[in-house]
Amino acid sequence: MKKVNGHEIISLFEQWSPKRYAEDWDPVGLHIGQLNRTVQKVLVTLDVNEAVVDEAIEQGANLIIAHHPPIFQPLKHIWTDTPQGRLIEKCIKNDLSVYAAHTNLDVAPGGVNDLLAHKLQLRQLEVMKPTVSDPLYKLAVFCPADYADDLREALGNAGAGALGDYAGCSFSSTGIGRFTPITGADPFIGKVGKSESVPEERIEVILPGPIRNKVLQAMLAAHPYEEPAYDFFVLDQRTEQLGLGRVGVLEETMSLKEFGSYVKSVLDVPAIRLVGDPDKQVRKVAVLGGSGSKYIRAAKRKGADVFVSGDIDFHSAQDAELMDLGIIDPGHHVEKVMIEGVAKRMQKECTDKEFDVTFIQSAIDTEPFTFLQ
Ligand SMILES: [Zn+2]
Repeated sequence: MKKVNGHEIISLFEQWSPKRYAEDWDPVGLHIGQLNRTVQKVLVTLDVNEAVVDEAIEQGANLIIAHHPPIFQPLKHIWTDTPQGRLIEKCIKNDLSVYAAHTNLDVAPGGVNDLLAHKLQLRQLEVMKPTVSDPLYKLAVFCPADYADDLREALGNAGAGALGDYAGCSFSSTGIGRFTPITGADPFIGKVGKSESVPEERIEVILPGPIRNKVLQAMLAAHPYEEPAYDFFVLDQRTEQLGLGRVGVLEETMSLKEFGSYVKSVLDVPAIRLVGDPDKQVRKVAVLGGSGSKYIRAAKRKGADVFVSGDIDFHSAQDAELMDLGIIDPGHHVEKVMIEGVAKRMQKECTDKEFDVTFIQSAIDTEPFTFLQ
């Protein structure tokens, strides 16, 4: 097993949930501490409060990965006799770093919203509110036929050729490459001053803009030639749109009231709030972790019969009633599904890479509300 620092763990995490997926207002990333030190234990939590920090210290964690950013508003000072100042002081005194992945983790495939949609067993999932897509490029590279397999593998490992649920997609055609090495060249094939012809393959792959440099470097490193010939094309296409919330269908139609009880049970909450006719039949469901008041219209536009989200305010509930959109508000705290989701996924990825790190799930209940029956 390999000892790793915070950067190595976070760089793996950000391949899944990059910071550029986050909304502009969202302060994601490292909040407290640093990522240069060795990390052997990571605590995953929804929120960072003093009890969670105490838990991390007690468990010997060096890094906390949280969903909600602990420093949301910029600080003008850190007074250690305030709750927030004390929390920061405690983290620093204990070499405990804190990293937040918020709306980027909502958007990421397999992130908070997918985890919620899977708990609700929704099918035919789509993004509810698209927020991110990247330009697509095509790389065409010419390579001696004997080296084409290695080059295709290197391009695939760098992330090129990802199409939906397929990885390493490419197209190759064969032809003859011709060149004459001139004085100063150190040719891999052929001799200076003598024209050469070599059976070559033209390998074509598509790739999203953000990994362009990574793919180019991987291609140059794997290519046997001193001066590889290649073309980069900008395509008039973009990657699949990613975004906030998910829309999907239930296996069976049920009443809004039945669906409410179902949500309460599968999301493990003590109570839900319901808006709309309890007998309304629902099949198509929109779900968004966190505060959904702003997204009622997005859910309706997607044809949802019911919208599952937290923090629904009075007037938004009235708007939903007017547009015949049922609402189930199970509270904001259902985002706790990320604790298990992130810890299990990251543990598997780190174990596959033989990283010597353990992910633990916070057991502290950070729900501020108590529900009286
Ligand atoms: Zn939230």
